[in-house]
Amino acid sequence: MTSVQVRGRAERVLAMLDERGLEQMMVSDRSNIRWLTGFSGSAGVLIVSKRGHQFITDSRYTDQARDQLDSSGATDIGVVTARTLADRNLAISEAASGSPLGAEASIVPQSEWSSLSAHAELVAADGLLGQLRRAKDESEIALIAKAANIASETLSEVAPMLVAGVSEREIRDELEYRMRKLGADGPSYETIVASGPTNAALPHARPTARQFEGGDTVVIDVGALVDGYHSDMTRTFVVGGPSDEQQRWYDLVLASQTAGLQAVSEGVCGSEVDRACRSVFEDAGLVDLFVHGTGHGVGLDIHEEPFLGASASAELMAGDVVTVEPGLYRVGTGGIRIEDLVVVTSDGHRNLTTHPKDTPCPPSPRTI
Ligand code: ZN
Ligand code: ZN
Repeated sequence: MTSVQVRGRAERVLAMLDERGLEQMMVSDRSNIRWLTGFSGSAGVLIVSKRGHQFITDSRYTDQARDQLDSSGATDIGVVTARTLADRNLAISEAASGSPLGAEASIVPQSEWSSLSAHAELVAADGLLGQLRRAKDESEIALIAKAANIASETLSEVAPMLVAGVSEREIRDELEYRMRKLGADGPSYETIVASGPTNAALPHARPTARQFEGGDTVVIDVGALVDGYHSDMTRTFVVGGPSDEQQRWYDLVLASQTAGLQAVSEGVCGSEVDRACRSVFEDAGLVDLFVHGTGHGVGLDIHEEPFLGASASAELMAGDVVTVEPGLYRVGTGGIRIEDLVVVTSDGHRNLTTHPKDTPCPPSPRTI
């Protein structure tokens, strides 16, 4: 697979900087650097400047940086090796050449901000890359779709194992091992397998040694990582099949999620998607049990712009990749969440999550 091509992205940053009266910016966030250069290592800063772009890294990463910038088409970005912190600060100040330098104030540690301020006039320029990274191109969507397919396929393999006596951690381990086997670089985030009356009632529970019992709701939130791109999916099962109340909750969450998906389209405000999901629970008198936001963008970061919640103000744009993930949670009953990952289009969305969601019954265990 050819790598994502980044040519032209630094010029788009310059155009946005120009609107803020800046000629240059220091990019420190790893995902932002990867989006602009293709570099996947952990050390380095990128100077995007009208006077020429430079990626400043240390000698451990020089060869990797040259290779990755070359294969991602970032041929207009020079690679500079800085051996010491003083070298690096000098390189940054030379690149800034006396003009104000935009920087990510929320990323750069205070100590680094202070020491760099002796060399260059730093100006907070946060959020700019997050906006540019929103609309994904086809090669990015292909990687996210591949990650989503790996997670869906893996869950299909593992779902028949959801029987009494198996633990949350065993299922987590099966999911993560099998995702790697299917070609993922690893899990996209800490896989959630949350079961029973208490654990499943926590939206962000960590897998424990708890063993499933008949009647447990089991919330599985799983994603794969492929070439730096994430996927995100949740399915909920009931061990042995649902009670009447669990089936009613499941039907409500599915109706809520379907309403949210139907609302997704270019030009729609993130808060409208949230409203569509929430109103289904309001009509059922259960809205107090939906205790988190409706969705978020997914790309080089698992949580990125845009965020879909009651106070979201951004309009969706074609190419946004977002989750829609309503849920209901109550200690004693457990939890139900259904989450899909979709690409926003001009007339709706394209769903990247292929795993079925029509029933909370786990498939029957395989027999030989
Ligand atoms: Zn998730
Ligand atoms: Zn999510």
